[in-house]
Amino acid sequence: MADNSSVEIVEGCRLPVLRKNQEHEDEWPLAEILSVKEVSSRKLFYVHYIDFNKRLDEWVTADRLDMKKLQFPKKEAKTPTKNGLPGSRPSSPEREVVTTAPSRGKTLPTPVQVDFFNSKNDERLLWVTTDFVIVCQRFVGSFHGKSVNRQVAAKVHESNVGIVHNQDSQDSSDGIPTAPRMTGSLVSDRSHDDIITRMKNIECIELGRHRLKPWYFSPYPQELTSLPILYLCEFCLKYLKSLKCLQRHLTKCNLRHPPGNEIYRKGTISFFEIDGRKNKSYSQNLCLLAKCFLDHKTLYYDTDPFLFYVMTEYDSKGFHIVGYFSKEKESTEDYNVACILTLPPYQRRGYGKLLIEFSYELSKVEGKTGTPEKPLSDLGLLSYRSYWSQTILEILMDLKPDNGERPQITINEISEITSVKKEDVISTLQYLNLINYYKGQYILTLSEEIVDGHERAMQKRHLRIDPKCLHFTPKDWSKRGKW
Ligand SMILES: [Zn+2]
Repeated sequence: MADNSSVEIVEGCRLPVLRKNQEHEDEWPLAEILSVKEVSSRKLFYVHYIDFNKRLDEWVTADRLDMKKLQFPKKEAKTPTKNGLPGSRPSSPEREVVTTAPSRGKTLPTPVQVDFFNSKNDERLLWVTTDFVIVCQRFVGSFHGKSVNRQVAAKVHESNVGIVHNQDSQDSSDGIPTAPRMTGSLVSDRSHDDIITRMKNIECIELGRHRLKPWYFSPYPQELTSLPILYLCEFCLKYLKSLKCLQRHLTKCNLRHPPGNEIYRKGTISFFEIDGRKNKSYSQNLCLLAKCFLDHKTLYYDTDPFLFYVMTEYDSKGFHIVGYFSKEKESTEDYNVACILTLPPYQRRGYGKLLIEFSYELSKVEGKTGTPEKPLSDLGLLSYRSYWSQTILEILMDLKPDNGERPQITINEISEITSVKKEDVISTLQYLNLINYYKGQYILTLSEEIVDGHERAMQKRHLRIDPKCLHFTPKDWSKRGKW
């Protein structure tokens, strides 16, 4: 590489950096220098690859920098914030829209945004009813039999909901992307964030038999951030600075499962419900651990308004944490999940979908529909998309002809059966590109590709929540004192 000693690389410089890629060939994407340090008289550079998720940020040596294309930071480097309030926290960074809240009078941006309430002038908008009746048309044979061309028609009653056809959002043939996007949703402008919180600060976490490499900043006490390994008690999640301290702690710590009530058990999988007020230190330690893998959610030091549902896997040593989600005790916006995370050693094995399924089982017991708090992370969005798609397709495919008549189902009914909020049902139908307009009716065409893709996916989905194993009584938090 070029001689690096003659030019000083400072924070904010941009240049191509060699990114070593385990699965593909090495590449040289443009990166920004976030920090420079010297270790044993060798310079190290903390880089953020511009079009990649922040979790790939890393320290690199000078030989990985392409000095020929070095760009110095522009003066006035501060990017103005959207609302003109520099320094304010980005409350809703721009990212892929799942469903949108009403946003009065805006024109729809491309590629696709679903807006149920506005934009009357956009010709891509179709006006259909809130009581969107879907009729199965030409329903032939069972869905497990082959080569049946299934069509479902949606009848239009009156015009009070707008839908935008979502035709250019397909990531793969069955509409369900197979791999997380490494660009996009989490690379929004964060230049006004504190430089400290843009950098990973914990090298490694030992949690039971796992070693975890954090993806993002987490506000553990600063004196612990220089350690090569931070040790956590895998049951109470207390953090300790050395193995010796952990061993001493383990002689005193009697927990072999998360605190709180075990409200679900099937096989080796259990769920514990933890009250953020009653088990504050556990809840805070859980948030600290989770923040290592969640970029975009505020860390709640005030855990009182939340419940935490921790999923564990049991063996002879105890109940080991696999993942969790948090949930507001009272949500005015129908949120049934605040933060959700599967710990990295357990990812891509169906546990994320199990967490999501559990969150909707709780909503069913509560007799409510729910939706996850936005924004979702890229990985979170993938899991939800996949869960919603499978859940809705499962219902559409199970529709049986009713006395020889075409079976009918409404969006509201799908929503009631699944507890998936209506907006998420509609956005999923659009995302799967099932909705077509045909002879005055809205037709959902379930192509063989969709059906086959769905059946293959369901065969692989071994882990399911069994509602019979859930022992959960919802509490009415509004009637409880805030003490
Ligand atoms: Zn402990």
